Amino acid sequence: MSLKPHEYEGEKALAEVLFNSIGDGAVTTDEFGKITRINPTAQQILGYSEEEAIGKWFPDVFSAYDDEEQSIPLIERPVTRAFVSGRIISEKIRYKRKDGELIPVSMTISPIMVKEQPVGCIEIFRDITKEYEIEKMKSDFISLASHQLRTPLSAVMTYSHMLLDGFMGPITKPQSRSLKTIVSATNRMNETISTLLNITRIESGSIAVARKPITITRIIDEVVTEHHIAASEKSINFKIESPDTSIKIISDGVVLKEVIGNLVSNAIKYTPPSGKVTVNISPKGSQVIISVRDTGMGIPEESQASVFSKFFRADNVVRQETSGTGLGLYLAKGLVKELGGDLWFTSKEGEGSIFYVSLPLLPQSIRTQTVRKSIVNE
Ligand code: ADP
Repeated sequence: MSLKPHEYEGEKALAEVLFNSIGDGAVTTDEFGKITRINPTAQQILGYSEEEAIGKWFPDVFSAYDDEEQSIPLIERPVTRAFVSGRIISEKIRYKRKDGELIPVSMTISPIMVKEQPVGCIEIFRDITKEYEIEKMKSDFISLASHQLRTPLSAVMTYSHMLLDGFMGPITKPQSRSLKTIVSATNRMNETISTLLNITRIESGSIAVARKPITITRIIDEVVTEHHIAASEKSINFKIESPDTSIKIISDGVVLKEVIGNLVSNAIKYTPPSGKVTVNISPKGSQVIISVRDTGMGIPEESQASVFSKFFRADNVVRQETSGTGLGLYLAKGLVKELGGDLWFTSKEGEGSIFYVSLPLLPQSIRTQTVRKSIVNE
């Protein structure tokens, strides 16, 4: 059914009113990337008037920057990718206001399709400065609280060790048992504090990643040594398989050790007594793959998509009440990304899991940042 001219005018006016009433910033372009509409909220966020924006090339008005305040090349900009791919793209980026200030925005850009041809784009975006500030306050608080907790905790650790080792006189068997419980609880608390600090560093982009030649088997040997007692207490058959013991990569040994240590500790924790945990190192093309395989309880299929989310613990492990925070894999995923690699897994409930870490064999460009701190691993 075609519209009569006055009805068409009415529809057009209504569309205009609706567009201008959108509470978020909204902007449309034609197929050449020229701005065709910009609503009042977008004008207010960016500081450009309608007259200053309409008819201009979109990237000239909407200068886009990444989280490190680097200008995003035209080819990588969401608007270009949406137009070229015909897909809807949602991202968090920064736009430069007319007054020069960079503001973080959450945006969704969709190609406008007519008869399967893109004839322009529509973008909806929202100023998320407040959300960024709240996130930063949260991170700063965790960081401060963790540092404040760490100082008294080191005193507890030092003195418990001294008492346990008999530096302050002989102790009885029950006293020794109690002290061992204190030491293991403070160790756990210390690990949780390190995890929290490292997470805040990753989330604020201030983690330092070294680039030094490292021999992978040496790192894995250290991890295995550290987890040897935990494995033997559960009579777990714990071994390394490595076809080539000389594989060297340019990476950060401390970060890699933290990642593999995390995977190994999970494998031991979630494998019933007398099971098997195997670490394998194999080169594959331009990468090296480190896998940690266990014959443990596995991850239920419905939980698999959430395993790398913060605080997530699957029902099957929670039921068994094993201790855990649900932060280890979230941190490991972030750390592997910092190393320029990837972390993924396959798992079957009741049969076991395999976690894989891939790392580039050749040096990768690792982001440089202004404020960078070393990973906390003590
Ligand atoms: P947690 O402190 O709970 O171990 P992680 O972030 O390390 O936290 O792991 C998140 C969840 O993923 C675990 O609670 C568990 O449900 C699941 N998971 C991780 N590794 C394994 C594994 N090897 N076998 C079975 N489940 C695992």
